Amino acid sequence: MRGVVQGVGFRPFVHRLAVRLDLAGWVRNTSGDVQVLIEGAPDRIETFVRELRVEAPPLARIDDLRTERCAVSNLTAFTILDTQTGGGQRQPVSPDAALCAACEAELFDPANRRYRYPFITCTDCGPRFTVIEAMPYDRERTSMRAFAQCASCLADYDTPGDRRFHSETNSCPTCGPRLWLAPPIPLSVPERGNALSTVADLLVAGKIVAIRGLGGFHLAVDATNENAVARLRARKQREAKPLAVMVRTLADARALAAVSAEEEALLTSRERPIVLLQRRANSLAPSVAPGLDSMGVMLAYTPVHHLLCDVLRRPLVMTSGNLSDEPISIGNEEAKRRLSGIADAFLLHDREIVTRYDDSVTRVVRGRTLFLRRARGFAPLPLRLPVSSPRPLIAVGPHLKNTFTVALGADAYVSQHIGDLEDLETLEHWRSAFAAYCRLFSLAPEVAVRDLHPGYLSTRLADELGLDRIIPVQHHHAHIAAVLAEHGTTEPVIGIAFDGTGYGDDGNVWGAEFLVADLAGYRRLGHLRYAPMPGGDLAAREPWRAALGYGALEPDMSVGGQSLTGIRPELQRIAKQQIAHRLNAPLVSSMGRLFDAAAAVLGVCRSNQYEGQAAMQLEVLAGNQPAQPLPFPVTATRHGTWILDPVPLLVALGEELARGVTVRDLAARFHDSVAAAAADLAARLAADAGVGTVALGGGCFQNGRLLSSLTDRLETHGLRVLAPRELSPNDGAISYGQAAVAASCLQGES
Ligand code: ZN
Ligand code: ZN
Ligand code: FE
Repeated sequence: MRGVVQGVGFRPFVHRLAVRLDLAGWVRNTSGDVQVLIEGAPDRIETFVRELRVEAPPLARIDDLRTERCAVSNLTAFTILDTQTGGGQRQPVSPDAALCAACEAELFDPANRRYRYPFITCTDCGPRFTVIEAMPYDRERTSMRAFAQCASCLADYDTPGDRRFHSETNSCPTCGPRLWLAPPIPLSVPERGNALSTVADLLVAGKIVAIRGLGGFHLAVDATNENAVARLRARKQREAKPLAVMVRTLADARALAAVSAEEEALLTSRERPIVLLQRRANSLAPSVAPGLDSMGVMLAYTPVHHLLCDVLRRPLVMTSGNLSDEPISIGNEEAKRRLSGIADAFLLHDREIVTRYDDSVTRVVRGRTLFLRRARGFAPLPLRLPVSSPRPLIAVGPHLKNTFTVALGADAYVSQHIGDLEDLETLEHWRSAFAAYCRLFSLAPEVAVRDLHPGYLSTRLADELGLDRIIPVQHHHAHIAAVLAEHGTTEPVIGIAFDGTGYGDDGNVWGAEFLVADLAGYRRLGHLRYAPMPGGDLAAREPWRAALGYGALEPDMSVGGQSLTGIRPELQRIAKQQIAHRLNAPLVSSMGRLFDAAAAVLGVCRSNQYEGQAAMQLEVLAGNQPAQPLPFPVTATRHGTWILDPVPLLVALGEELARGVTVRDLAARFHDSVAAAAADLAARLAADAGVGTVALGGGCFQNGRLLSSLTDRLETHGLRVLAPRELSPNDGAISYGQAAVAASCLQGES
């Protein structure tokens, strides 16, 4: 069998099944698969093979099962053989899984010997990817190697039928990892002998505690204490970006936010991602998610979380243990060094974290999961490539929100979220994660795939690998290719890529692109009218600059509204000069900047304190009611490229605002204007190109209202719509798209 069949209680399960059916033989892990030999009555062997799939343990995923007849060797028992290691083979590595119900019950059972033990696990739950150093999965190749099992644990480990039979992370209070509190400064709260209750006291007193978890540190504060949350923001240098909140139970989550059936399923899944929910009026500190009507909620997923939430009985802010946008800390000493200016105390443990692993972030749109960040619980499970790569490759990914993908054949291992490749720490994180993937999946890439942009650090990462072959892939082609590949489509489609920025093949900044594309290539059929963005990258932080840039396109039309209210005249003068002299005012066709410009005109957002803030606030204002589109004309150039002109749209927004129409109405009408214009243009392009499918990619499709409205309209045009499912619409999917394009290119050559 191939698939996720190691580290998930698979051999014990096979053993149980064989014993139940009175079959002899053996099971063993190898570097590439799990092999089983069985002897016994033919009908029972048949049942055995059928039940393997039906009864497989919760974390298992059988991708391939093959059988063959062997010579009879008259075995009398069923045994688990030693693992057979060999080179050149690979298999999926199980992601970490949330504490299972059986372990949770034992955790709170005073009669159990693991009562309140913070590292309780079994074959159905606990750390995997974050403790595995190499495959095949055995304790000696994990960071649990440091803890020799005591006699009682060994008995569990050796007892067929026990939930911990061959559980490689098995431990107990006698023999396992330990939890302790490290106060770097004198604390006002007396130590109570129990690290967890002291942490609870500290949190109630408004302190910030750094908590070492599965894939790194969290910074925790009482989510109902405004002073504490504000202090965390100030120290972490995170001004406004929403903070995730952890609660213990679904009922706790419902007290904070509305939870649909789909959201409930996501919240309680063993992956336990952060889920963006519609918040209720509640007692949370306003600073948790300022200016938004949604909030990120996750349920406790480790025993430490459960114990802490049980003592505290109030929601906790649990945000990643880092300063600003740096990678999360994973080591005890590293955390004490890097987080000493933020945390008042550290809850540490001695089970080493092999790989950084951020919390995954999701939301539900149109009843389906939409990834905003894919990491814990999901990576490093492979995705399929519709076109096999004949050579092992590394797609280094984008500049921001980086993930990378290593691939060979039809398997693409998309890394967990790495971060923005803008500082040395993140580059180091990239290099070490890349080394880990090569080791875990026995891959030695021969081909590097990178973005077109010559100056990105990701391009440097590709160059420094020194491979004989480097394939550049345009950013928006990668967005569309990622969506095609996850849907297994190789046919040409109309691709709509809406995002903030990507380097275009004409040297301009793209971000609202209509392509006819397949995996092998693309042609740009249409885009948003180019506008100069005064200040370059600064325009992404200051929405008024985008409005000014659009205004400059048609001097006798007024793109005004509220966009320049409160902006210092001196800054406006410099920006206008930049546009006039084309100095630091690159030409941009970005949907992200158009959302910024609209937010500026409506006076919604003066500055983006985090990426996409203006667009998120516009989405909140727009709500769900359908609205009448405003004019957003499209014209064809002499070269046959279609241009969407947003100037009349922005002008109309300003005029309607002056006429007294509410900002809410106009935010809704803006969304539907974009959706209607894009759907009409895509339908026209699809008809011309003779294709019936449209693929949507790019960070703007994290906007649920835009995604829903555009999808509905395209379907009304009779088009099939492919949207991101297993990966994020944002740049987290770029590396997978790069890999798909490169695989198609390499396949074409071979
Ligand atoms: Zn368990
Ligand atoms: Zn033990
Ligand atoms: Fe992008």
